[in-house]
Amino acid sequence: MVSIVESHHASRECDVLIVGAGASGLMCAIHAGRRGLKARVLEKGPKPGLKILVSGGGRCNFTNLWADPEGHYLSENQHFCISAMRRYPVSEFIDMVNAHGIAYHEKKLGQLFCDHSA
Ligand SMILES: Cc1cc2nc3c(=O)[nH]c(=O)nc-3n(C[C@H](O)[C@H](O)[C@H](O)COP(=O)(O)OP(=O)(O)OC[C@H]3O[C@@H](n4cnc5c(N)ncnc54)[C@H](O)[C@@H]3O)c2cc1C
Repeated sequence: MVSIVESHHASRECDVLIVGAGASGLMCAIHAGRRGLKARVLEKGPKPGLKILVSGGGRCNFTNLWADPEGHYLSENQHFCISAMRRYPVSEFIDMVNAHGIAYHEKKLGQLFCDHSA
């Protein structure tokens, strides 16, 4: 179960407390919920997921077909992207988009955008 709450008071009644209802926090909450955990998301802004709506000019460039951990990311820990992307590859995100029937297209160089709205 995922719920967005406004006060820290409610945080006492959950398994996972996530700060920030952006793309990362919401994804984290979805996966916590799928594992049977009760997740709460704290958001200081007026609405969850606001930046998602403006991403990609309103159509969200949600992934890139050619994203791979070797060579595309800068990080202090060079191994982080390798383990993260092996455990959650681009194909898995595309599967989720397909499962929800969201129409998309490749714009250029592997960039995938929603056909309609982010
Ligand atoms: C105009 C624009 C277009 C973009 N287009 C794309 C795109 O097409 N594709 C793409 O992959 N990326 C795009 N990005 C980058 C995009 O911002 C990130 O991919 C994505 O939004 C990052 O999500 P996030 O959850 O890490 O951070 P955010 O979306 O910034 O979410 C963090 C959330 O945490 C909240 N928060 C912060 N501190 C606290 C606190 N102390 N307590 C409670 N809440 C807190 C914030 O209010 C915010 O809602 C774009 C960015 C911009 C600005």
